[in-house]
Amino acid sequence: QAKENGRNTYAFYSSESTARALEYVFFENALRRAVSDNQLFLEYQPQFDLEPGKLTGMEALIRWQHPDKGLITPDRFIPIAEQNGTIRNIGQWVLQTACHQGKAWLDAGLDIGRISINVAASQFHDENFLAEVLAIVDESGLPPEHLELELTESSFMHQPERAIPKLHALRERNITIAIDDFGTGFSSLSYLKRLPIDKLKIDRSFVMDLPDDEEDKAIVRAIIGLGKTLKLKTIAEGVETEAQVAFFKQAKCDAQGFYFSRPLGTDAMDAFLRSPQTTTL
Ligand code: C2E
Ligand code: MG
Ligand code: MG
Ligand code: MG
Repeated sequence: QAKENGRNTYAFYSSESTARALEYVFFENALRRAVSDNQLFLEYQPQFDLEPGKLTGMEALIRWQHPDKGLITPDRFIPIAEQNGTIRNIGQWVLQTACHQGKAWLDAGLDIGRISINVAASQFHDENFLAEVLAIVDESGLPPEHLELELTESSFMHQPERAIPKLHALRERNITIAIDDFGTGFSSLSYLKRLPIDKLKIDRSFVMDLPDDEEDKAIVRAIIGLGKTLKLKTIAEGVETEAQVAFFKQAKCDAQGFYFSRPLGTDAMDAFLRSPQTTTL
């Protein structure tokens, strides 16, 4: 009987991991074509300073429109792209596309604030990363003070001494650095004060149950306080309710989330930039 169970269990896990392995192989091949076949596109989600309500920028978020599989979200393919190295091409495509779009909006006289781009840890650690970013920004004509890079804690955790010179070089060009999903991966706060960064993005998992959850409230207040002490801007991600807006407004923390807007396609973002934004607050 035990043997029977064991075999069933084995069969169950085995077929599940086979499915996952097949998906991996599919993605691995399909991802290589995604860039060259123009299957990737960006959406943009606005970010706000709540007092007085004002757009400060937008985050560029990648999507993959596959001809057979339909729309694929980044949580499903970015980790695979990091493993198989296609993140390098994809990352360059994101940077190019966002910088050119930003420049086009500026040329149209629109106030975009900063365009914020997600950078995967493996991308940041690539020895060519810095040169590539600077080359793309130059080529696009986007003034670098309109560019922000979002890095996760995993980009600094292991070898902060290697990350710091890169961060300095980016900030010398007036590119802003934000730590994304802040609070989810920290092993040591002691080097946070040594990191040349500008902004902490409070992870959505701490925001979700605000303002009712007392523990999350304490964590979020601690992060905002830490930001204030270290002279870093703070922004909350995943703001969905009016009560959350009130909370962050009082805490003098910027906000981004479905309450204001979902990520928008280029045309919808264009329309948004042309509308009086403060009325949405
Ligand atoms: P992230 O950088 O933390 O991005 C925030 C995610 O939260 C986005 O999911 C966004 O659509 C979602 N979001 C924003 N406001 C709300 C809200 O009010 N409620 C809820 N439930 N969700 C909200 P998305 O677009 O699926 O992206 C997921 C992750 O994929 C991103 O997390 C980021 O880590 C990664 N990613 C996205 N675009 C890129 C990219 O161009 N390059 C790289 N390397 N990673 C990317
Ligand atoms: Mg992000
Ligand atoms: Mg985030
Ligand atoms: Mg997140």
